[in-house]
Amino acid sequence: MKEQYKRDPNPDKINLIVGTYKDGEGQTPVFRAVKRAEMRILKEETTKNYLSIEGMPEYATAVQYLIFGAEHEIVQEQRAVTAHTPGGTGALRIAGEFLKRIRGNGVRVWLSDPTWPNHGPIFKASGLPVERYPYFDPQSQALAFEELISALGNIPERDIVLFHGCCHNPTGFDPTAEQWREIVEVIRRRNLFPLIDFAYQGLGSGLRDDVEGILTLCRSGSELMIASSFSKNFGLYNERVGALTVVTPTAEVAHAALGHVKKCIRSCYSNPPAHGAKIVTTVLDSPSLRAGWKREVTEMRQRIHRMRRLFVEKLEEKGVEQDFSFIESQRGMFSYSGLTSDQVQLLREEHSIYILGSGRINIAGINESNVDRLCEAIASVV
Ligand code: PMP
Repeated sequence: MKEQYKRDPNPDKINLIVGTYKDGEGQTPVFRAVKRAEMRILKEETTKNYLSIEGMPEYATAVQYLIFGAEHEIVQEQRAVTAHTPGGTGALRIAGEFLKRIRGNGVRVWLSDPTWPNHGPIFKASGLPVERYPYFDPQSQALAFEELISALGNIPERDIVLFHGCCHNPTGFDPTAEQWREIVEVIRRRNLFPLIDFAYQGLGSGLRDDVEGILTLCRSGSELMIASSFSKNFGLYNERVGALTVVTPTAEVAHAALGHVKKCIRSCYSNPPAHGAKIVTTVLDSPSLRAGWKREVTEMRQRIHRMRRLFVEKLEEKGVEQDFSFIESQRGMFSYSGLTSDQVQLLREEHSIYILGSGRINIAGINESNVDRLCEAIASVV
């Protein structure tokens, strides 16, 4: 569809299929804080020598502070280890390799239905069978929470369950704080292993608020893994920077876990690329760069919220009677719009508006210049 979009000669074509953040001008810019950090790095760098297998220790610390906060008991008691991976994808793949190695044959990975399309192939490539648990109810345009809880209760003990830490891709629906607590109850009762895909920290409700689900899972005392990505919240898509964090009951277990993670990394890519991790560490360790970066993440998040509201308002203004108000309660860049595959096809063929067949919209692809045309076209197809 990307190719079709490129070939489309219509100057007013609208691209809502992409997976990257777009600003009001339709660009995916370099963060100002990132540029400043890069200038510092360029000036101070003295070698391009290999990093260690798990990456730089300063990076691991910065990532843990960002997830848990420096004062969190997991950090204080050194119950977590973090390895720098090439992107969130790398973190997920190393998690798959690690879990296959440690949990052995027979365990499965359970993914939400729907989920990010790459999840299945990543775990299958690690040799782990993949199953699905219900997540979304298209009828009510909401989380299928009852079904989710009841499905979790039937997953065999010791299996791995993948959750999106925040900003569920593709639906945009996250569990509430109370729902996270219920999820944790079942996880504990069934002795399941949570693996959290954390690709959108800061794009939902805020850098701290978006960790709420993860921190609730941590309170259960169980072991878990977190696959962070800095592609979106630092705009570092092509630098391939992410991290795998393993949370365990004791510092000794954490240390042993890192040994296994390193063995997995060694046979996959040996050691990570440095530049992206240096940027993230430089920004997070410098009070002024960090403050600037936080402002930029806030700008992104607020723009997404603004576009959600504008989209819903404009649809109403253009006379659409169907209720799209749920779009305002979704979080993150993506939204299951509820548009059917036929409507999506009409939008593409008659209006040069590109939306995935599932109806998933990248809300960041909407801006003040295209929202009227978009909503008029939607009004004509619903
Ligand atoms: N998980 C989810 C849910 C994603 O949407 C993405 C990026 N599209 C990733 C992981 C992977 O991110 P990265 O580019 O850092 O590998």
